Amino acid sequence: MPRIHSLPSHLVNQIAAGEVVERPSSVVKELVENSLDANAGAVTVEVEAGGTRLIRVSDDGSGIGCEDLSAALSRHATSKISSLQDLESIASLGFRGEALPSIASVSRLELKSKLEQAEHGWRIQGRDNEQPVPDALAQGTQVEVRELFYNVPARKKFLRTEQTEYKHIESLFKSMALSHAAVAFKLIHNQKVIYQLPSVQSIEDHRRRLAAICGKSFAESLVEIDIDNELLQLRGWVALPTFNRSQADMQYFFVNNRMVRDKLVSHAVRQAYQDVLFHGRHPAYVLSLSMNPQELDVNVHPQKHEVRFRNSRAVHDFLFRSLHQALAGVHPESQADTPAFAVAESWAQAQPQQSGLSLTQFAQRERPNHVQDQVQAYNALLNPAQADVHTDDNRDPQIPPLGFAVAQLKGIYILAENSDGLIIVDMHAAHERIVYERMKQNALQEDVISQPLLVPAAFSVSQAEADLVEENAPFFTHLGFAVERIAPEQIRVKAIPALLKNANSEQLMRDVLADLSEHGQSQRVQELQNEMLSTMACHASVRANRLLSLEEMNALLRDIEHTERSGQCNHGRPTWKQLSLNQLDKFFLRGQ
Ligand code: ADP
Ligand code: MG
Repeated sequence: MPRIHSLPSHLVNQIAAGEVVERPSSVVKELVENSLDANAGAVTVEVEAGGTRLIRVSDDGSGIGCEDLSAALSRHATSKISSLQDLESIASLGFRGEALPSIASVSRLELKSKLEQAEHGWRIQGRDNEQPVPDALAQGTQVEVRELFYNVPARKKFLRTEQTEYKHIESLFKSMALSHAAVAFKLIHNQKVIYQLPSVQSIEDHRRRLAAICGKSFAESLVEIDIDNELLQLRGWVALPTFNRSQADMQYFFVNNRMVRDKLVSHAVRQAYQDVLFHGRHPAYVLSLSMNPQELDVNVHPQKHEVRFRNSRAVHDFLFRSLHQALAGVHPESQADTPAFAVAESWAQAQPQQSGLSLTQFAQRERPNHVQDQVQAYNALLNPAQADVHTDDNRDPQIPPLGFAVAQLKGIYILAENSDGLIIVDMHAAHERIVYERMKQNALQEDVISQPLLVPAAFSVSQAEADLVEENAPFFTHLGFAVERIAPEQIRVKAIPALLKNANSEQLMRDVLADLSEHGQSQRVQELQNEMLSTMACHASVRANRLLSLEEMNALLRDIEHTERSGQCNHGRPTWKQLSLNQLDKFFLRGQ
């Protein structure tokens, strides 16, 4: 009597559901991805009781024909790939052909769809051996999932409160809406419309969508990113470092329009921010990385949350450099002159084209000719309420961005007048950043100073780590280390960078080796040195309560304008703030 037998297909699907359908939000993810793959222009997600009672996703996409309906519900059946070659260059979000059968095996599912050219649509129940029946439907597809896990009580027990399950759905919905701006999205919970996001056709629309999803203050503190090299493209926005979060909850990263959680990505981003962010705070960003799909393996996770980069070092390097550079460029002039229209163009390229006016067309039609117009457009983008009163710009090219000092307040703040109105500068914070950036520059230009250890430190490492020491000899010398391999699994540190003379040399070395083996590079020594310089800068800069002459104040203003990262002090606090005449007029109810 043989003991091994094939499992019935229903059970096979339920096992697959164990991986794919973790909770209601995973169902929403799979269904919305299907709608996006079907080129939907509008997607509506309707849920009840946190998705446990009902999930209904409707779209106006390409639809499914009658003869394909039951295939759509069977395992390993997909319209998206047909060969290994396709698998190696996937452009769609789905490709595994297991979402619908898995979901159907753990819920009561109904699938309805109509092709554009068909006279009417068809619906089918997600049970075995069902046949489609005709139904009067609008073009597109609707999937209804009721009573998730009704037949797998063990699974049901793992669900959290309705509110928690709903929160998962909402955050998933937000990332979908951010990654596909050209698509209109709607979210309804317990019959209440929570989000209604029209398709993005203009910069204004886009700003509104970002504000609706990430909040108004996020939308008002953006640095646009639009950087290419021959292999990689990075587009989107990072918030100014002064807008930061206590949690890593506003970090959206898309790779070829797919939301991913990736250690390499978050490491690169964190590193780019390390110099401008308060300890323990998290940056906020919405970034979209694009590359040839062949450079990417998306078939590594059943829920497709993870990807594998073929050339992970190059990706890390590109992300770090691009963001680091973008953040270094945030100073008064660049903030005032950023042409808002680049934003629209970059998204137009990142999004699939929908009908109507494309973003690129919009940008070309509205493209401003003068710097002044750009400034105006930029202001309009950031302060829509004031857009109309910025109409006759009286910016004087003779007046520098941060203007001229008029007074000092309580020995702490500098008040200055520029063409827009009043500038307030925290002089200690600003000076600290200037001194710090200068020290870093000097440290870069001078020869590395290395400090011999009184007693060289010899310790055991793994063979692979000892190999790294040998392979990266120039890297270590360049930083000011003297280190050598003295046995297959032993190294000896004889000198360390002078700035870090008080560090624990063994721990430092171990940390650097850990970075090298995990990421292929290490910024740790620079980071620690920067921390030292930052503390030194803090002590060396003007303290509060020092009276400055007007000349000194003006010199400080000019320094801020010409210093990288000068929008924040070394600890991530803002260094200056503009109060425009409009804001002041509004406050005093002038001309209303
Ligand atoms: P996959 O997305 O991996 O192909 P699914 O089980 O999610 O697998 O879907 C199976 C097939 O059903 C898809 O390949 C597609 O052809 C069709 N389909 C599913 N949802 C939709 C939809 N909303 N619009 C059009 N076709 C759909
Ligand atoms: Mg799918």
